[in-house]
Amino acid sequence: MLDSFGREIRYLRLSITDRCNLRCRYCMPDEGVPLTAHDDLLRYEELLRVAEAAVSLGIDRFKVTGGEPLVRRGCTGFIHALKALPGVRQVTLTTNGLLLPPLLDELRAAGLDGVNISLDTLDNVQYQRLTRRTHTADEVLHAVRLCAARLPTKVNAVLLPETTDQLIPLAELAQTLPVDVRFIERMPLGTAQTGQTASADVALDRLRMHWPQLKPVIEPRGNGPARYFRAPGMQGCIGLIDAVSHGFCDRCNRLRLTSTGLLKPCLCYEQGAELRPLLRGSADNTTLQSAIRAAILQKPAAHCFQQRENITEHKSMNQIGG
Ligand code: SAM
Ligand code: SF4
Repeated sequence: MLDSFGREIRYLRLSITDRCNLRCRYCMPDEGVPLTAHDDLLRYEELLRVAEAAVSLGIDRFKVTGGEPLVRRGCTGFIHALKALPGVRQVTLTTNGLLLPPLLDELRAAGLDGVNISLDTLDNVQYQRLTRRTHTADEVLHAVRLCAARLPTKVNAVLLPETTDQLIPLAELAQTLPVDVRFIERMPLGTAQTGQTASADVALDRLRMHWPQLKPVIEPRGNGPARYFRAPGMQGCIGLIDAVSHGFCDRCNRLRLTSTGLLKPCLCYEQGAELRPLLRGSADNTTLQSAIRAAILQKPAAHCFQQRENITEHKSMNQIGG
């Protein structure tokens, strides 16, 4: 379905939990995180009802996210059921990778089409500082290697001033493994509302100095707004997601559903359609469809990351789903 600015909305991010086994500094507050009561989370059957209604409006690609989606019991079964819905073309997962290795075979059997693994640094000490937990970057790298051998895999790294020395080592993963490595500007939401991001343009200049033959990739790749580049000999591509400095709202194709059932037209603003009361009340599928249609029509022309005073969304990314 087209929104009021003529953009075709085909992609829905489904957050299945706000819980996480990490506490990334740009995503989640450390302590006193107000975790949602289990009953307030949408049940898998409710998420599937939303997906079904979304499909009837032309949304055929889904990303399962969180919090950390793999901490919620039954995630694989949910992915299987989601992928089996008539009209669903693609289901992918975004994860920090820590719980992924033992689940890879069942996720692939469930029909998962691809995995994004978040890894901001290859340095174990820095990883622990950034994530405020004792897991290591080596564990995540192990998951990346296993995953890349089984499923289309992307590595996502948030660009942070303290990890600029990691740009080239992370990008080199696209040379040594069949993975796309994407660098994402830090968005000023939740715990990241203040503080610095590192710019994607500066990162691109440094990548070009390291790989003078780095060229833009013309063919479309994935559902998202990344700009892709490749140098000779690379197995994957390097991507840049510069939502803050450039913005790509004119090509925005997505909605987000939080784990408690708020359907968000845009990351920046708190407005959205509360679907949980509909799902738990007597609303039929037509009512659900109308609520999703209304959310699509409410999508604003653009986000307001450059005018931070206009941001009305104060939830953290683990509550929104990234
Ligand atoms: N736990 C999973 C993970 O880390 O991939 C899924 C949820 S996480 C919220 C989804 C994505 O959002 C991750 O790639 C994470 O790096 C990104 N993210 C979180 N906070 C962000 C911020 N302030 N700016 C940009 N990306 C952010
Ligand atoms: Fe957890 Fe992902 Fe947020 Fe890190 S980015 S705290 S792994 S939800």
